[in-house]
Amino acid sequence: MAIDAKSKALKAAGEDVCGFAAGEPDFDTPDFIKEAAMAALRAGKTKYAPTPGIDELRAAIADRYMAEYGFKIAPTQTVVSPGGKFSCYLGILAVVNPGDEVIIPAPYWVSYPDMVKLAGGTPIFVPTDDATSFKITPAQLEAAITPKSKMLILCSPSNPTGAVYTRAELAALAEVVVRRNLYVLSDEMYEHLVYDDGQAICFATLGSEVEQRTITVSGFSKTFAMTGWRLGTLVAPAPIAKAVGDLQSQTSSNATTFAQYGALAALREKEKAREAIATMKVAFDRRRKFLHAELNRIPGVSCLLAKGAFYLFPRIASFGLKDHVFCARLLETMKVAAVPGSAFGAEGYMRLSYATSDEIIKKGVERLAVFCSTLPR
Ligand code: PLP
Repeated sequence: MAIDAKSKALKAAGEDVCGFAAGEPDFDTPDFIKEAAMAALRAGKTKYAPTPGIDELRAAIADRYMAEYGFKIAPTQTVVSPGGKFSCYLGILAVVNPGDEVIIPAPYWVSYPDMVKLAGGTPIFVPTDDATSFKITPAQLEAAITPKSKMLILCSPSNPTGAVYTRAELAALAEVVVRRNLYVLSDEMYEHLVYDDGQAICFATLGSEVEQRTITVSGFSKTFAMTGWRLGTLVAPAPIAKAVGDLQSQTSSNATTFAQYGALAALREKEKAREAIATMKVAFDRRRKFLHAELNRIPGVSCLLAKGAFYLFPRIASFGLKDHVFCARLLETMKVAAVPGSAFGAEGYMRLSYATSDEIIKKGVERLAVFCSTLPR
């Protein structure tokens, strides 16, 4: 967010910046969702809502898990919060006690370690790299477990790498999770942005014992281009959902009431929702392939073709610069904004978001090529 803010400030000052730093779709929220929220405002939905969310939305969330994954949950197992980020934080806070260890595969989404620390826990990182497609193995997970281990955080499709675990890979991790008695925070924020033969898997559906220990987070920000609405969803076994609701009651009270009616339309008006997601996905997929091909054309850069989210995570270690120096110089000299891998616990890479226009991607990657050609290797 800091790099994105700097890039936006440069843009505001009249600089021609190519921004690859933002973690949000460049699309606007679909009109039918906006209309529903406006109708709710006009109808006076301007008061406090029930803490865990309006009843209709909780029911619609339960319905969609059933329809999409055959995952049977009661509406009382769902909590709607002001953003998926807050859903993650409350899920961690509900389960992690001071002194507990939380296993976080790296590269990780930037907020997890601090959320764990705020809960009094200790983040334990398990490094991965592009040689293993940024995925942890059951053996790595097993090796990271100690008597203090309480939770594993999974994020598939991943921010920042775009990696998507297969069902078999997740099932193998789930076996360890159950046997070693861990909770899992499964952050499925990008579940609807999967390409090629990738498949979004809802981790909790990998067995009843898995379901008993999994907190599933998702939301509307990425799927429906609703980052500014601040709406996240959490699904958990009833006692955890109750604890999350209690935490929300003493912190945010509830997610914005009229915004929840917009989200309700997103889940109820399935045909329009499908169309909106499909339109975004076609654009993201085109940009993903283009950016991936162009990156790999640059001597010294190598990049996997990630199957999910809207990020690529190329390796830039061959230039001999720390990644934050590389990204700072790239922004200063070429006005290209990207986030260094070290921000996600992975030195030697950078994260490029392709949730931006085709023109900016084309221009930005050309500038990156020029920048790289000036560096010794
Ligand atoms: N989880 C992941 C992996 C994310 O990338 C994000 C947003 O960047 C979130 C959760 C939170 O999304 P929001 O709070 O905007 O709903």
